[in-house]
Amino acid sequence: MDIGSYKLTSIVTSTFALDGGAMFGVVPKTLWSKQVEVDDLNRIEMVTRTLLLESADRKILVDTGNGDKWQPRMREIFKINTDQFVLPASLMQHGIDVNDITDVICTHLHFDHIGGNTRLQGEELVPTFPNAKYWVQEENWKLANHPNEKDKASYLSENWAVLAQNGMLEILKSDTEIFNDIGLEIVHGHTAGQQLPLISDGTTTLLYGGDLFPMKAHIPIPWVMAYDNEPLRSIAEKKSILPDLLEKDAIIFFEHDPANVACKLVSTEKGIFGGTNINI
Ligand SMILES: [Zn+2]
Repeated sequence: MDIGSYKLTSIVTSTFALDGGAMFGVVPKTLWSKQVEVDDLNRIEMVTRTLLLESADRKILVDTGNGDKWQPRMREIFKINTDQFVLPASLMQHGIDVNDITDVICTHLHFDHIGGNTRLQGEELVPTFPNAKYWVQEENWKLANHPNEKDKASYLSENWAVLAQNGMLEILKSDTEIFNDIGLEIVHGHTAGQQLPLISDGTTTLLYGGDLFPMKAHIPIPWVMAYDNEPLRSIAEKKSILPDLLEKDAIIFFEHDPANVACKLVSTEKGIFGGTNINI
């Protein structure tokens, strides 16, 4: 798919699993289990899905997934599997070397979004994309370095410390268009300063759903995650964003949905829901 001067490619970088109850907050299992696959430990099968944007002069990644630095115990808890998908190898299949990446837009610094930012070279942590700028919102950067007790376990400095040391981080303070046709929706309900790229050429619009819309089942307004720091704020953010996306006939891209890469929206008397799937 192309939007404006960008060619869009979706790349799955790992499979993993999170607790189903945590993924759907107050929604009863009798409802959410009809929408998603669940294992015998009540975990939902998920993926990490990166979006690659290529133009004449830039090669941009949106998020980098779980990465490959995991110890066996954590791999087991989160069922992290990177046997089939590793970001550098997947990029090579599209003819792109890690040195070619110019920018990495980090939606937020939770490990399942930016674990691929760095990698181990022997015992040493190094940037996975040595020539890239890594873009983060200031509010999220501050929280990641001084996390609250609720989402502290998701902020692991091994995913950014070496980037900060090498001066590779670009700390943003607003929703200004960072590249031609790429704006940012800033939301705070899941965690402070989450930035969701909004790619639009005026005809086609796509929102990278991040952890505001991790899966297609999260489109209905009350279906928010128990992981969110401020669930009521997530609800308000969805309420404000969805009608605008519907009016633009926009596409939502899902970072964590194994079965649905992206979709359009439909409006019914019961609210706004996921509609026709779009392949990217
Ligand atoms: Zn998150």
